[in-house]
Amino acid sequence: MDHNSTTPLNPLAYEEMIPFLKQDFGNPSSIHGFGRSARVKIDESREIITQTLGISPREFVFTSGGTESDNFAILGVALSRQDKGKHIITCQIEHPAVLNPCKALEGQGFKVDYLPVDSCGTLDLERLKGAIREDTILISIQHANSEIGTIHDIEKIGEIAKERGVLFHTDAVQSFGKLPLNLGALPVDLASVSAHKLCGPKGIGGLYIRRGTPPLFPLLNGGNQEFKRRGGTENVAGIAGFGKAVELTCSEMQKKVNYVSDLKKKLIQNVSKELGEFEFFGNSEKQLFNTINLGFKGVRGEDLLIALDIAGFAVSTGSACSSGSQLPSHVLSAIKVPPELVDSSIRISLGRDNTPEELDKFGVKLIELVKDMRGDC
Ligand SMILES: *Cc1c(COP(=O)(O)O)cnc(C)c1O
Repeated sequence: MDHNSTTPLNPLAYEEMIPFLKQDFGNPSSIHGFGRSARVKIDESREIITQTLGISPREFVFTSGGTESDNFAILGVALSRQDKGKHIITCQIEHPAVLNPCKALEGQGFKVDYLPVDSCGTLDLERLKGAIREDTILISIQHANSEIGTIHDIEKIGEIAKERGVLFHTDAVQSFGKLPLNLGALPVDLASVSAHKLCGPKGIGGLYIRRGTPPLFPLLNGGNQEFKRRGGTENVAGIAGFGKAVELTCSEMQKKVNYVSDLKKKLIQNVSKELGEFEFFGNSEKQLFNTINLGFKGVRGEDLLIALDIAGFAVSTGSACSSGSQLPSHVLSAIKVPPELVDSSIRISLGRDNTPEELDKFGVKLIELVKDMRGDC
């Protein structure tokens, strides 16, 4: 129940990877047969992924995952466009893969505005308009938030950016495979995606770079791979698994949405019935169908996580990347959850492999633990 952290590898995507870890181990840049068969698979995967996203194959660069894609977009634009300006706009609830390159740029003379969000995690678009300056070179706003599931209106944001001639990047890692994503039809210049959030392998992802976008400063300078935008011998097996995962996840998306939405509804009903006092974080109208973030007053989220783990259930508190660091979630702080509740939250993110029986058992255990920890059993 922690699918926003990562998902199980689809068995068919796994099958697709095996030949490229065994007999078809060639370097895709080699002219001989071994190389050619690897090249064919990369082209095939790129075709599947770009068709699904409504873009052309040359507009997509394979990377090592969402983190590299976010860094490539932000640092790549900043370093290639600094003569045009050194101002960047993002928001407070972005993933660390966006926030931290922005922070790094602040040390290099860039100015970054981290826009606040409301109590649902929604961005005020008038405020965004007001933040754009003469020297703004990039707006980076995520499509969907991993902790509270809030979905941002990337179409409206992109239109605002376009009107002012500013490049727009979106971190679409949490939305790809969960929401329809026709990037070609959206006013988006750059978009990050990652395979392991949609039942593909870890360590592979991509960056969409709209045709006509001024060349980004490359993070990895090396050979001519990826249209000379990212050097390094390709992760062929990863790319093969990524393509297959996209095909499988996106072709059955609506079925999955309906199935998982029902699980989520049922869980919330059960918890509401049994526990009068709890908080629901996020925007229930514009929220990822699989994500639930709940706060239980008088209970430490971390204690709950550990007790659930012992009972065989995996959930998270905050983002996986900040778990263990003892820092309160920057997302919950940004949506102004009162301090006494920030540490009392858990995130449940469901997937297609969760069963109704599991959810029932989980609900019973969760309710029992919360009552127990509150001492009101
Ligand atoms: C997981 C995640 C990332 C990082 O992707 P990796 O492939 O794990 O590097 C970036 N942004 C968001 C919103 C994510 O959920």
